[in-house]
Amino acid sequence: MKKEMPAVMQMPELLGLVLGALPVGVWIMDSDGSIIYGNPEGRKIWAGSRYISATDFAEYKGWWRSTGKQIKADEWAASRAIRAGETSVNEEIEIECFDGTRKIILNSAMPIRNDAGEIIGGLIVNVDITDRIRLEEHLRNAADTDELTQTWNRRHFYELLHDETQRAKRYRRPLSLIMFDIDRFKLINDSYGHAVGDQVLVFVSRETQNEVRVTEHLARVGGDEFMLLLPETGLRDAVNTAERLQGMLANRPLKAVGAISCSYGVCEYIPGETIDDFMRRADEAMYEAKEAGRGRVAAAS
Ligand code: GH3
Ligand code: MG
Repeated sequence: MKKEMPAVMQMPELLGLVLGALPVGVWIMDSDGSIIYGNPEGRKIWAGSRYISATDFAEYKGWWRSTGKQIKADEWAASRAIRAGETSVNEEIEIECFDGTRKIILNSAMPIRNDAGEIIGGLIVNVDITDRIRLEEHLRNAADTDELTQTWNRRHFYELLHDETQRAKRYRRPLSLIMFDIDRFKLINDSYGHAVGDQVLVFVSRETQNEVRVTEHLARVGGDEFMLLLPETGLRDAVNTAERLQGMLANRPLKAVGAISCSYGVCEYIPGETIDDFMRRADEAMYEAKEAGRGRVAAAS
C-alpha cells in the first residue's frame, strides 16, 4: 500500500520559502518516523541530516538537560509523537551533532494526522539555544568571581559556606576553613606601586589555587584577605594544608618584591555553629598568627 504523505510535502512554493527563511529547525517525518524533510536551519543545527526511521532513533545521541541522562530511543519527542500522538514543547536537551559537536536545543514534536485522525507523520521543531546558555553560564560565573584574581568573590563564598556547612552537619562530615591575609601588603603597595600590589594578589591566588584540590573553594573576601574552605577535611589536615601553602610561597620569591608571606588562621567547623561564628574563629586564629609575628599558621582551639 502506498504510504500517505503529510500534505505539507507537496510544499507549495511559498511554504518552501518560509521554511527556508525560518531561524528554527523544522523536520517532517512520515508515519515510520523517517525524516523526509529538513529545512536549512535544521540541517545547520544538526550539521547535516540522517534519514532514518523511529526504530533507529538510538543512532541519535542526546541528553536531558534536567538530569544529564542519555535520551533513550523511544524517549525522543519525535518518537513519542509518532508512536503515541504526543505533543512535546520545548524540551531542553543537549545533542551530539553529526559532526561530533555538542549543542543545546529546545526540542518540540507533534503528530501530523489525516482527516480520519490517523497519525501519518510528525513535525519536529528545534531551537538552537547554545549561545544563550553559554552566555548565561559566562555571566553567572562572572557574577561569582573576583575580577582581579579569578577566585570566588565574597558573595559566592557565603553561598558555598552555607551549602558546605549544611552538608557537613547533615552527613556528619568534617569541614575546615583557612583564612589568610598577606603580610605587610600595604608596604608592597607603597614601595612598588598599586600595579605590583595587584600582581602580588594574582600571584598568591594562582599559586594557592594550584596547590589545592578542585573540591576546595578559594575566595578573595577583602583587599588582601582570602578564605579557603576545605570539605572532608579535619583540623589537623587543614593545618597541614596551611603550612604547605606557607612553605610554597616562601620557596617562590617574586622578582619584583621577593618572597611573599601570609598569616593563616585555621579552624574546623563545629556542627550547629553559625557561619558567622565559624568565620570569626578563623579570623581570631589568623589574628593570633599576625600577633605572633606573621608568616605562620595558627589553629583555633
Ligand atoms: P598585615 O600584615 O597586618 O596584614 O599588614 P597589611 O599591610 O597587609 O595591612 P592590611 O592587610 O590592612 O592592608 C591591606 C591593604 O591592601 C590596604 C589596601 O590599600 C590594599 N588593597 C586592598 N585592595 C587592593 C587591591 O585590589 N589592589 C592593591 N594593589 N591593593 C589593595
Ligand atoms: Mg594584610
